[in-house]
Amino acid sequence: MRARVLAHYLAARRRVRPSHFPDRAALEAHQHRLLCRVLTRAPRRYAFYADLEPPRRRARPSGASTSTVLAALAALPILDKPDVLRGFAGLNIRGLDLDTCLAAARAAELGRDFTTTLGGLSVGLSSGTSGQQTAFLTSPAERDRWAGEVLARALPRGLLAGARVTLVLRAGGPLYESVDGGRVSFRFVDLALEPDRLVAQVLASRPTVLVAPPSVLRLVAREWGRRPAPERVFSAAEVLEPADAEAISTGLGTRVDQVYQAAEGFLGMSCPAGTLHLAEDLVLVEREPAVGTGDGGLPDCRFVPIVTDLVRSSQAVLRRRLGDLLVPGDCDCGDVRLAVREIVGRADDALLLRRAGQPGSGHAPSPAPFYPDFVRAAVLAVPGVVDFRLVQDVTNDDGAVRLAVDPPGAFDAAAASLRQRIAAAGLVPPTITPMDLEPRDPLRKLRRVRRV
Ligand SMILES: [Zn+2]
Repeated sequence: MRARVLAHYLAARRRVRPSHFPDRAALEAHQHRLLCRVLTRAPRRYAFYADLEPPRRRARPSGASTSTVLAALAALPILDKPDVLRGFAGLNIRGLDLDTCLAAARAAELGRDFTTTLGGLSVGLSSGTSGQQTAFLTSPAERDRWAGEVLARALPRGLLAGARVTLVLRAGGPLYESVDGGRVSFRFVDLALEPDRLVAQVLASRPTVLVAPPSVLRLVAREWGRRPAPERVFSAAEVLEPADAEAISTGLGTRVDQVYQAAEGFLGMSCPAGTLHLAEDLVLVEREPAVGTGDGGLPDCRFVPIVTDLVRSSQAVLRRRLGDLLVPGDCDCGDVRLAVREIVGRADDALLLRRAGQPGSGHAPSPAPFYPDFVRAAVLAVPGVVDFRLVQDVTNDDGAVRLAVDPPGAFDAAAASLRQRIAAAGLVPPTITPMDLEPRDPLRKLRRVRRV
């Protein structure tokens, strides 16, 4: 293992201990120090921020005051994915344009060869849940840091105890090769393999730490049999839904934890107590309250994260609005980094439905969101239902949805349960028509509830 990975591992190991940040104030002071550096360097690094006024430095060497740094951050525009795609070249340190990066990354995917670099940076393809793909640029130093950070959080008994780590991901490459060696061995299993071969390769690798999308973990769990349970299992890349988590835990004989990672970088990981914490020592997360209220009219503080990366430099990640919807939670492990009870799914996959009418009010009220986890709760509450997909077509004004249920015979009961939940939330149940449950493409992320 490279010395630099080891150095990051050791630093991260200290930092992820709950005692390292005794309270939020200590964590925030750490964030603000890093943020000041990021904002000061941004105008020189990225054309997009060339006109940014760096936080004014006070006379004292510790740099600008917290309020000045936060004000400088708040002055930046919040970027959504289309903004990032448009401004791509100005948002990376080499000025690489999106088409060049996508072409290189797609060629790498086709040849299943992930060693391509552009301007010294590796190019990866984001999985493109929302249709448009984007490229992910990393420098060797960033990959070493990533490896150190992830290992510090993932290895159950530390580096010296060793581990056999199996990763089932859409792309391998230098990110993982940099950490192979010593007592920790890495095995990359290609997500593009057909399911039987994929599962066979995972089983043959005898992992002690297994990282895969939940849909793959379910397949592996079904075939795991009496093999000894892995020490840690991480769900990655897709939303981990409670029913999947239960089936996986039962099959593999161990709890399923989560890695929260996006094109924007490494965002969080489950703590030893099993709760997902945002990696707030590496990213600053602003919380944008989600529109609408929860089931039954009760708000549950769900939010859309706006992320600023405090350590990466090849791509600027400053105030990026993610598509995900998060529900905050609690954890008694003592870690002050924000605990996340659930990643509900993509905020733009919430169904939009008409509010139950106040007759005579004159104008039509704006539609209200009905979130994917409420759909899931309604459909999976029907006895016998093991899986489902639901699609709402955005071009359809009346909010009609299509629903596929496994087994198909449970469609009527599932539709009735959904209608009832929607009505209970004060919304008008839409027309629900049956559709077929299509076999899925393993390279596309599973989204059970989609608005397309
Ligand atoms: Zn915890």
